[in-house]
Amino acid sequence: MSIIKDFLLQLAFMLIPIFIYYTFITERVKTDKNKKVIMTILWGISIIACMSFPVVFGQNARLELRIIPLLLGTLYGGFFPGIILSVLIILYRLYFGFDIGFYNTVLVLLLSLPVILHFHKVFTNSKREMRVKISVGLSFFYCLIGLTVLGILRGFSIEYLTVPVIHLIFAVVVTWCFTMLIESIREIHQLRLEMQNSEKLRVIGELTSVFAHEIRNPMQVTRGFLQLLNEPNLPDQKREYIHLSLEELDRANEIINDFLSFGKPSIYNNERIDIGYQIQRVVNIIQSYTLNHNVEIKIDILDTGWIYANPQKLNQSLINILKNAIESMPVGGIVWIICTSTDDGYIKVTIKDQGIGMTKKQIDRLGSPYYSLKESGTGLGMMVSFQIIRSFKGKIQVNSEKGVGTEFIILLPQMH
Ligand code: ADP
Ligand code: MG
Repeated sequence: MSIIKDFLLQLAFMLIPIFIYYTFITERVKTDKNKKVIMTILWGISIIACMSFPVVFGQNARLELRIIPLLLGTLYGGFFPGIILSVLIILYRLYFGFDIGFYNTVLVLLLSLPVILHFHKVFTNSKREMRVKISVGLSFFYCLIGLTVLGILRGFSIEYLTVPVIHLIFAVVVTWCFTMLIESIREIHQLRLEMQNSEKLRVIGELTSVFAHEIRNPMQVTRGFLQLLNEPNLPDQKREYIHLSLEELDRANEIINDFLSFGKPSIYNNERIDIGYQIQRVVNIIQSYTLNHNVEIKIDILDTGWIYANPQKLNQSLINILKNAIESMPVGGIVWIICTSTDDGYIKVTIKDQGIGMTKKQIDRLGSPYYSLKESGTGLGMMVSFQIIRSFKGKIQVNSEKGVGTEFIILLPQMH
């Protein structure tokens, strides 16, 4: 019984870092370097725990799975995590005593670490199935070396080799399970990221159909003025026509720029942005959509301020909210955007519509994936927007009354 307990404990020592890493770290920590440092620390703790509480059976027969944190840490982390984790194993083994087991540990590491490191690159560039194969193969290789070294040091007798053989089987099976687990979790994370992007492309697709009008208007106006300028006797208004044409062209240019910047893939970089200015740009992008729906947007920037955010992502979330507001008014109406600052250091952006509104139940479900009441809705817009606002350490509140309208209140921490 105690063997099973010990063994389950070993598994827990490896599961806990994986779950901590993928639930709390991957999305919050931004740079790859910091992620690697945290991953190495977690695997390091896992190694120490595995070595401190081995599976004990029979006299002197200790079995532990430190190879798995070492292997996974090196394959997913690379050179430095690999070296650091190996040094940690050697130092901690030294603490237990300077015996034959210590030499065994050092020798096995010296022989197997270069091979693991060699496979790190291939591993990184491989697909899931290949990764599992590499990981299992390396685990088998490490245990085989361990078994051989032990055989050389102690002699190849059945009595001495039973434990290493059991160890080998355990290690290989557990490596297979954990690599599969990590790969599945990574796949889910990847899908989530891709979903944000595909949702954005979908919105762009919808907006482009009306966007063309927005560009055509300035072109037609300018064309008209150019035609007038062609008339021989119009010297007085000449300046004014040129001025108006330039204004119209500038406007078209601005719309195109905003649109392009919205479509650009956003590298995750936050910067200092002026929220008032950003709202203006978002309204530029969505303007053509409002005209099509007989909706007017009224902007009231009472206070503006600086926030720390990624402009494209902020645009994406504001556009999603505005688009919903517009779509909630089938016969048209007014959308207000009010920007103020609060006493407790937030910038407050209120987006208010006169649309169909939502019940309490509907508000509660808002933001869960695929929740949509529209015929051709995806129910991803709000999910993505909420995620984005939260990633800026912001908050979102929704007040709504059926048949009266909805109010989205976005609170973003103000920078000074
Ligand atoms: P989609 O717009 O594709 O349906 P969203 O995630 O953007 O998906 O919105 C989910 C649902 O929330 C919508 O289908 C709609 O029923 C509701 N909703 C969102 N915003 C509003 C709003 N301003 N007024 C009324 N209902 C809204
Ligand atoms: Mg929507």
